[in-house]
Parts: sequence; structure tokens; C-alpha cells
Amino acid sequence: MYGSIEAGGTKFVCAIGDEEMTIKERVSFPTTTPEETMALVIDFFKKYEDQLVGIGIGSFGPIDIHRDSATYGYITSTPKLAWQNFDFVGTMKQAFPIPIAWTTDVNAAAYGEYVFGKGKGLSSVVYYTIGTGVGGGALQDGRFVEGFSHPEMGHMLVVPHPDDSFEGSCPFHGNCLEGMAAGPAIEKRLGKKGQELSEDEPFWSIEAEYIAQCAYNTTLMLSPDVIIFGGGVMKQRHMVEKVHQAFERLVNGYVKTPAVADYIVTPELEDNAGTLGCLALAREAVLHS
Ligand code: ADP
Ligand code: ZN
Repeated sequence: MYGSIEAGGTKFVCAIGDEEMTIKERVSFPTTTPEETMALVIDFFKKYEDQLVGIGIGSFGPIDIHRDSATYGYITSTPKLAWQNFDFVGTMKQAFPIPIAWTTDVNAAAYGEYVFGKGKGLSSVVYYTIGTGVGGGALQDGRFVEGFSHPEMGHMLVVPHPDDSFEGSCPFHGNCLEGMAAGPAIEKRLGKKGQELSEDEPFWSIEAEYIAQCAYNTTLMLSPDVIIFGGGVMKQRHMVEKVHQAFERLVNGYVKTPAVADYIVTPELEDNAGTLGCLALAREAVLHS
């Protein structure tokens, strides 16, 4: 059996999966303090201790992913103060001395789509989540694209739409993608949550413009095989077509991408992407241990 931990800012989703990557049990705990939340996580996996061979963790961040770093496996400079400098992998290793895969929450979802979803069989896959925040992960031939740290693609700058006077809600950058297009930025502008807005709300074409700018930047930097947009905001399914149109306008024929309907897509696994990604990463960690 493999364990999966999707560690999010509001909740932790833990699951158990078998060799076929079938989810056997899944539970969710609120993200409070490391002491409280991790006690629940460890209790959950202790039930399976005899069968558990590896664990995959996809965590909110920023996190330290450098194996030779003294703080490998830590959540580092998160604004969630209780979790700053928390030794996540170390805490899990102490309770379960088995192989543990460690990556960002969005990389885990990207991996799920890469192995089982819209990225299956492709060599270069980029996944974004547009939700409470915006995060992005990229895979090349099964490996995460990273250098001194994991990417922070959700904070790329976007050019403000001429009809949008919103200054952006990112405390670091103002008008970055997250500051302009994440769920809370929509709510701040319009006084309503994204899910309360109707399909013909004119703002959606502005939102699509920002997501298209993201797809444009991604295309020029990585030329991936597919770009997947998930997260709560993308549950507005009409958005993807608006993004296609804005994207083609921005690219303006400069690069010949795959057919846009197959190139800019929504996830196949929906809310299972993170769990399945963590399970598959756990399996990889065991294989290479
Ligand atoms: P999280 O990012 O916290 O993991 P989600 O991906 O579900 O969770 O994102 C939550 C955000 O998405 C909230 O800001 C919410 O208002 C927005 N959201 C959720 N559902 C929809 C919807 N159907 N349409 C537009 N926005 C939505
Ligand atoms: Zn930002």
C-alpha cells in the first residue's frame, strides 16, 4: 500500500492506495498547527503501518526540495506562521521509516495528470491551478522542472486588461497572475465569489485574458505538449474556450502550437489529481529506494 498526503493551506487530504493506484480510503483534516494536524495524519497512516511501503507528499509552500540541504523536507517561508520551518518529511520519517516522496501540492497534481490524465503519454506537461492561489508545475520526461528551487509560476506578471482597474491583490507583486486572477482577487473586485457569478458575467473575458497570458508565457518558455488549467475557478467550464480565443490572439501566429483545443485543457482527474499524483510519486520513491 502507498500513502498520499495533499497538504493544503485549509485542509490535509490523506489517502491509501494499492499497487494498482486504486484509492482505498481517503480522509481530510483541517490545517491548524503542525502538532494537531500531524497527529491526525500519523494516526491515520498507523492503521496501515504493516502494509505501507511508501508515502508521497504534495505540500503547500514554499518548501525545501534540495536533497543536500540541511532543511530538505521543510516547509520554509510560508505566511502560515505555525508552519514556518516545519520539518514535514522528518516528522513523517520518524513515524514511518519508509521511502517518502516530497514535492509541492501543484507538482503532485501535475504528476497525477501526467501519469493518469491529460498528460498521459506526453513528454512535456504543464499544470496550473487557479484557486485560492495560483500555482504551476512542469514535467519534462517524468521529472519536475526545477533548479535552485521549485517554480513559482503563479506569480508571473500579467499585463493589466484595459477595462480592469483592479490593482491586484498579491502583497508581493500586485498585478501578478495570482494577484489578478485567483479566486480571492475575483471576490475582491466584484464582491461575490467566483461560483456565484453567472456564465455571462462580463468579467470572465478579463479573467480569460489573464489565463491566456499565462498560457502564452508558458508556450514561449517551454513549448510543452499540453497546458492543463485546474482549480476552483476553472470549474467555470466556459472559460477554457475564452482562453483559447484570447491565446490565439496573443500568439498572433508567431508559433505553431498543437491544435488549441488539445493544447490548453482542463484536468481529466479533477479533484483526484493530487491524490493519484502523490500515490504515483510514492510508488516511484519505493522503486528508486
Ligand atoms: P484551493 O485553491 O483552496 O485548494 P480551489 O481550487 O477549490 O481550492 O479554489 C477555491 C477558489 O476557487 C475560491 O476562491 C472559490 O471562490 C473559487 N471557486 C470555486 N468554485 C468556483 C466556481 N465554480 N467558479 C468560480 N470560482 C470558483
Ligand atoms: Zn505575486
